[in-house]
Amino acid sequence: MGLIRLLPWIILIVIAFVFLSRKKRERERSAMEEELKAMRRQLNARQGPAEGGASEEMARCPHCGTYFLRRDGVIKNGRLYCSRSCARKDA
Ligand SMILES: [Zn+2]
Repeated sequence: MGLIRLLPWIILIVIAFVFLSRKKRERERSAMEEELKAMRRQLNARQGPAEGGASEEMARCPHCGTYFLRRDGVIKNGRLYCSRSCARKDA
């Protein structure tokens, strides 16, 4: 007798459990999508045009005329050289 009275509650609990687990899965999926979007954004930022990326700019060595990345350059007397040896030679 008692079991029959409990049956609606059991069904209710099962339905609630299924509903909650589905919600949880949905939330997890949307979180994953957000993460993916963020990763894609990062990739685009890296591949896209360098905004304010002065380190990726090219510069010309005043001594030998070679083009090189600014971040690889050597500064001497306010000028940017491709290498330390050029900076030393171009006194
Ligand atoms: Zn040079």
